[in-house]
Amino acid sequence: MRLRRITARRSPVHGMGLFALQPIAPGERVIEYKGELTSWRRAAARQRAEAGHTFVFGLSDGRVIDGSRGGNSARFLNHACAPNCEAIENGERVFIHALAAIAPGEELFIDYGLSVDGAITDEIRIQYVCHCGAAACRHSMLGNDTEPA
Ligand SMILES: [Zn+2]
Repeated sequence: MRLRRITARRSPVHGMGLFALQPIAPGERVIEYKGELTSWRRAAARQRAEAGHTFVFGLSDGRVIDGSRGGNSARFLNHACAPNCEAIENGERVFIHALAAIAPGEELFIDYGLSVDGAITDEIRIQYVCHCGAAACRHSMLGNDTEPA
């Protein structure tokens, strides 16, 4: 049995977060981002119905992994503009790797870098506003929107 390395619990940044229980080395694979492979449109419609958290991961081909359907605790990963983890696509699967050494108790973050089809409305901008507090904070989880909210 391997020791559990991460756990989901309440985050000071937003809702639930993912936290290290054991030291994690740079480059180490932490967890797979699981969920249903679907379209951005369908996932966005679901999110409006279940307001609150962002449970989708955008793939480079435009589809998303919807962690609210069949997902694991990776869906609790919060966004930060200066993250300590990155998501690496491998075909239709996504794995979360550490970018830096992460100590037990630290929260894990990725840069969502979400891209939205069509115009970014104020409604969308508000839904994806970032509160990570980093000096380089873009105030948005959207990769293609640099305008401060
Ligand atoms: Zn930020």
